[in-house]
Amino acid sequence: MRLLEHESKRILQSVGVPLPKGKLISTPEDAREAAREIGGPVVLKVQILATGRGKAGGVRFADTPEEAEQVARQMLGMQIKGYMVQQLLVEEKLAIAKEMYVAATFEERTKGRLMMASESGGMDINEVAEKDPSRIKKTSLGAWVGMHPFNARELAFGLNLDGKANSAAQQLFLKLWDAFVTFDATLAEVNPLVLTTDGRIVAADAHIEIEDDSLFRQRDRLAALGILERDDNSKPPTHFEKEALAIDKADYRGVAGRVVEFPGNLGLLIGAGGGSLTLFDAILRNGGKPANYCEVGGNPPVSKIYRLTKLILQKPGVKGLAVMTNVFSNSRVDFLARGVIKAMLELGIDPATYPIVFRSAGAFEEDAYAILRKYGVKYLGRETTFEDATKAAVRMMEAVEGR
Ligand code: GDP
Ligand code: MN
Repeated sequence: MRLLEHESKRILQSVGVPLPKGKLISTPEDAREAAREIGGPVVLKVQILATGRGKAGGVRFADTPEEAEQVARQMLGMQIKGYMVQQLLVEEKLAIAKEMYVAATFEERTKGRLMMASESGGMDINEVAEKDPSRIKKTSLGAWVGMHPFNARELAFGLNLDGKANSAAQQLFLKLWDAFVTFDATLAEVNPLVLTTDGRIVAADAHIEIEDDSLFRQRDRLAALGILERDDNSKPPTHFEKEALAIDKADYRGVAGRVVEFPGNLGLLIGAGGGSLTLFDAILRNGGKPANYCEVGGNPPVSKIYRLTKLILQKPGVKGLAVMTNVFSNSRVDFLARGVIKAMLELGIDPATYPIVFRSAGAFEEDAYAILRKYGVKYLGRETTFEDATKAAVRMMEAVEGR
């Protein structure tokens, strides 16, 4: 479960992490009152389940309580990143000397835990991670042992702070770790971790995610902080996603669902043993624009595949189709081929001329390929890697868009 900034900060407060003075509000009048209580300039931050609020206009400043009221009036009710703004966190505006970064999370490769910190925090941390990963120091903490003061010391040294701020940062790291472990978090991130001009170390932003499978034992601890459990996928399903769900639910056999809508031009029918995520990532990495995510597996019948394909092909903006899977062990490739062809024929689409990349293999593949040949659809077999298949799909779409 992903927490909002103000919820994450309540957790940090409970373990003693230094925070800016602040108050959660939902009306402009309360924003003015909060600013008066805080005294001095304030920052107003939208409380939505998305990062990058700063760049999207979701973080603004006000020098007086009257200005805070005005700004809050503009921000409340705004749409940011698909969310309607209903609450703002009004906080003392920190005089920032340096924006840093710290996070506790899990390491994908070792499945162990780690804490990482960087002197270059703030809004461009993802860019730093991509362009110069050496600027983010990491310390692996394993599955059992956890964090020792020497780990905190090691991390803090990378931040180039003077004595007092350095030890404050170490204290903060240990407390952040405490919160990460106590609350079964999968992520506890502070960005920016701020050094103020008067030498304080303060968590200016916070982003905590709790492991869903641990909610049963975190419920009471969270409730004591006023954090209530909610369905995390808080974006309501789109019409397209609901239709896809209905197709999948209509028949218990296999999966042809878990559809997520995206704004691109390439329809995706992807799956098999984690293939969906891998293929989706490969398409994005190669510059493709998916119209949807989906998962196909567990031998769904032709009827489900054909309905889902039809839905995808009819989605506004879709100009091509990628049918790609791992090598199926338990699903029939010919069902996939039949479903796709049937959908096209019903929609009056000529399979021989429609932009399609078909890369699937496994059970009944020869039958599948015979069907595709009959309708003039070129196909790629198991010898073509995901990488090459997705590149072919991306090139195909570039040709379709006439670039
Ligand atoms: P995010 O964009 O959703 O991560 O929101 P943040 O809370 O991290 O704020 C984005 C940026 O706004 C920060 O990186 C800072 O540059 C700026 N900012 C946020 N709070 C303050 C503050 O108290 N004082 C100052 N000077 N800048 C702030
Ligand atoms: Mn931030």
